[in-house]
Amino acid sequence: MTRILVTNDDGVRSEGLRALAEALRPLGEVTVVAPIMEASAIGHALTLRRPLRLETFDDRTYAVDGTPTDCVNIGVITVLRGLPDLIVSGINKGWNLGDDVTYSGTVAGAMEGSMLGAPSLAVSIKRTKTGMDFTYAAAAAVVMAERVLKTGLPPRTFLNINLPEGRPKGFRLTTQARRNHVTSVAEKEDPRGQPYFWIEEGQNHWEPDERSDYQAVMDGFVSVTPLHPDLTNYGALEALGAVEALSLEPPVKVR
Ligand code: MN
Repeated sequence: MTRILVTNDDGVRSEGLRALAEALRPLGEVTVVAPIMEASAIGHALTLRRPLRLETFDDRTYAVDGTPTDCVNIGVITVLRGLPDLIVSGINKGWNLGDDVTYSGTVAGAMEGSMLGAPSLAVSIKRTKTGMDFTYAAAAAVVMAERVLKTGLPPRTFLNINLPEGRPKGFRLTTQARRNHVTSVAEKEDPRGQPYFWIEEGQNHWEPDERSDYQAVMDGFVSVTPLHPDLTNYGALEALGAVEALSLEPPVKVR
């Protein structure tokens, strides 16, 4: 029996999670292990300084008071007692494109899956104020899940899938876009007169790139980016080669 583990970062109550689990059910036994509270932009965080509780939420649906990475570990080790055939994270309410994948709990869920050794996917759609439609994203998730279950993925590789608005024109294999960050931090005052700060999204300046995930969703395609946890910049090894010739003498005095 094919076993599929589903997680997300929007929380166990998210419609995107439900739509994904529902759509994947014909492919095998679907088990959901998701954060009890929203954990968006939590990245690849692992909870190590407090206990975690596992709650049975529904039939084959469990909630953990932690992060997507916690959920994948507890899902694989405690709930499934072994690696599933596939791990799918999403459907996230909001794109995970370009540099934003480093903040994403959704993408981290799939990254953790790939590090544990299971083929893994992350699925996201554009965030809109009202009427978010998960239909095409669920369909794309099923198509990619079937494909990956059949042919597998290269080792330590996972897929970051983002849907355009509306009906997609097809799939496009993409690379991670680059964005010049212009984050803004709002400063306000709380009712007790103390200042507080709120990180705002600011403006996005995407570097033009035909091959990018950002361009694909802009052009109406489902963006499929193969990612891996290895952040090494192989191209920079040569440029930085002189580092190895640096001398450690005289030793730095530590007081
Ligand atoms: Mn989210």
